[in-house]
Amino acid sequence: MRLAIERVAGRRPWPPRCSEFTERFWRALAEGRLTTTRCAACARLAFPPRPFCPHCWHRSVEWVELRPGGTVYSSTVVHAAPAVFAHEAPYRVGIVDLDDGLRIATRLLGVAEGFAVGARAELVVLAYDDGPLFAARVRG
Ligand SMILES: [Zn+2]
Repeated sequence: MRLAIERVAGRRPWPPRCSEFTERFWRALAEGRLTTTRCAACARLAFPPRPFCPHCWHRSVEWVELRPGGTVYSSTVVHAAPAVFAHEAPYRVGIVDLDDGLRIATRLLGVAEGFAVGARAELVVLAYDDGPLFAARVRG
C-alpha cells in the first residue's frame, strides 16, 4: 500500500545518515513505500530496519512493506526547537502505533489544536528536493 507523497520545497533541514544497509529503506520511501525488517527466526518486526533482530538477536532478516495507517499514541508541540528546525517551530511530534504493530516517533501534520491522542493517522512521504522523509498526517 503506497503512502501519499507530499512535495516540500527546499532541502531537508537535517538529512538522515544513509548507510549501505539503510539505502534500500530510503529508496523505497522515495517511491511511496514504507519498509522495514522482519526476523526470519521469530517473525517480529523492527523499526527502524536493522540487519539483525533486536528481539532475539538472529542475524537473518527480510524486508517487508508496512501499511501506512495507525493511531496516535502521544503528541506534543515543540516550541524550543533545535537550531536547524527553529524556522519550523512550533511544530507537533508524536508517537504513532502503526496497524502492523510497530510504535514509531514522527512529525505529526494536520493537527490544528488539542492533543490528537487516539486519532487515526496515515504516514506520508515528504518529498524534499534532496530526498524523502516521512511524517504522519492526522485525520481530522
Ligand atoms: Zn527475532
